[in-house]
Amino acid sequence: MTSFEYFANTCASIENIPGSLEMTDVIAKLLKEVTIEELPVVTHFVMGSVFPAWSDRQMGVGNRLLYTALSKSSGISEEEIENIIRKTGDIGETAVQALSSNPAGQSTFSAFTEEKPGMEIKEVYERFTHIADTAGKRSQGTKIKNLQYLFNSATPIEARYLARLAIEQLRIGVGEGIVRDAISKAFETDVNVVERAFMLTNDLGLVAVAACNGGNEEVQKLDIQLNRPVKMMLAQVTPSIQSALNDLGEVAVEWKFDGARVQIHKKGDNIHIFSRRLENVTSSLPDVVEAVQENVNADTAILEGEAVAIGEDGKPRAFQDILKRFRRKYDVEAIAKAIPLKLNLFDVLYFNGESLIDNPLRKRRELLFQNVQSNDRILVDRQVITDNEEEIQEIYADALRAGHEGIMIKKPDAPYSPGKRGKNWLKKKPLMETLDLVVIGAEWGYGRRANLIGSYALGCYDPDTGKFPAIGKVATGITDEKLAELTTLFSDLIVYEAGRKIELKPEIVFEIAFEEIQKSPNYESGYALRFPRLVNVRDDKSPEEAESLERIGEIYHSQRS
Ligand code: ATP
Repeated sequence: MTSFEYFANTCASIENIPGSLEMTDVIAKLLKEVTIEELPVVTHFVMGSVFPAWSDRQMGVGNRLLYTALSKSSGISEEEIENIIRKTGDIGETAVQALSSNPAGQSTFSAFTEEKPGMEIKEVYERFTHIADTAGKRSQGTKIKNLQYLFNSATPIEARYLARLAIEQLRIGVGEGIVRDAISKAFETDVNVVERAFMLTNDLGLVAVAACNGGNEEVQKLDIQLNRPVKMMLAQVTPSIQSALNDLGEVAVEWKFDGARVQIHKKGDNIHIFSRRLENVTSSLPDVVEAVQENVNADTAILEGEAVAIGEDGKPRAFQDILKRFRRKYDVEAIAKAIPLKLNLFDVLYFNGESLIDNPLRKRRELLFQNVQSNDRILVDRQVITDNEEEIQEIYADALRAGHEGIMIKKPDAPYSPGKRGKNWLKKKPLMETLDLVVIGAEWGYGRRANLIGSYALGCYDPDTGKFPAIGKVATGITDEKLAELTTLFSDLIVYEAGRKIELKPEIVFEIAFEEIQKSPNYESGYALRFPRLVNVRDDKSPEEAESLERIGEIYHSQRS
């Protein structure tokens, strides 16, 4: 069994390593040293997550709750805790300082000087699981008590990383890329084999265990599983239809429906629906569940499609309306009546016990077409295979007239590539390209708007480090009502405030229009945006799906040519 202190010390040493190669070595060593039971836990912990992304388990610990737990553990007030965080800018350091100050008369506080029994990684994980599983009226109290227990058993270095892990903000610069490489290195497994298994299972913990048990051979056995979402295949922008034809030759053309993507897992009448962020959204979409139960002829299947909200004029409604459906936890039936969804299925990944992802699109499509009964709630729409530019232009014009986004141009013989944004799926839309960026900070407004957030700091995503390097700011400059709505959206994500500046947990993605990307020494990413404007809040995307630093560089270079 491995102590949590060992894990914490490893985190501390990683924080001081500048290069990702050396970091990979340290993590590979850690993965090799822990027991097989600890391996999946440690794999997630180093990335700052407690549970795998696909899991329904959520820690549910916000900053406020953590401050309360720290206050109770240390005997100093929450206000004082906030003062410390304002100075240190880091919840880990705040925990250490709070727990080290020993206010008079505080009997519950077992100071760092006392002999500690020492915690094992397993024990921390079990407490966290307990915290996640507590629900109902008294859950806040129970969560706080469990955190208090952990803090009061912790040494300073343990407290530092416990606090950060509890809110899933480890910030040691380790992301999926480094962990993938570390698994490959630790267990002598081909990095591409590791990557593919991750795309299929969405769980690096599981991949690490397989690699440890039997290298390439075991990892290759990992496959798609029903009710475990598969990372979705994505599209690249094509500048023109002609260029798509040059790239792909004969192509399969479909409308690019304006809605929200869903991945549907069917086992008999048991249906699970996952959103674009691979979150389980089944309970919000009873009408989609029913449409699949009644019209898909398969014992087991994994299907993909776009759920579209059709307005009274027959055109798709605004994206925000669809999100109302996806977020809804109560009065689900009423909102389903008010905003009915139509499911446009466009792919099938798994059918009657067999994975289809290595089959060509043509074949997957044929199976889909044969086994779905199309009607006004569910549809396998037209797909045209052609190499005729004019014909494609017509389909494009039709799609736009119908109020959809444009077209998808796909390679008919290509497999389904989980988690890849490759050339086998291209998209053509009339809009100028927008960027999906993560909101990493904010500033309160002035005067009348002092209680509203007036501008937001944006970051892109660096998959190697898991960090969100800053790229610019966007002022929302809209109505007070909209500003208030956005302020509420971010209120639970405030990590700390210093003057008008707010640091936010990177959680929400903004779709940003811009004039140009420029090089800039002012931001961590090395780039800045000219005239950024907020287009949409992309609740359907996770921060890791924001534009990567590499992609920003590509766009910058393509602008210049
Ligand atoms: P966008 O903002 O353009 O939707 P995105 O990053 O969300 O981009 P892309 O991979 O670039 O996603 O574009 C593909 C998306 O288009 C899919 O995720 C899906 O939601 C949507 N879509 C609509 N119709 C289709 C279709 N026929 N085939 C595949 N995807 C489709």
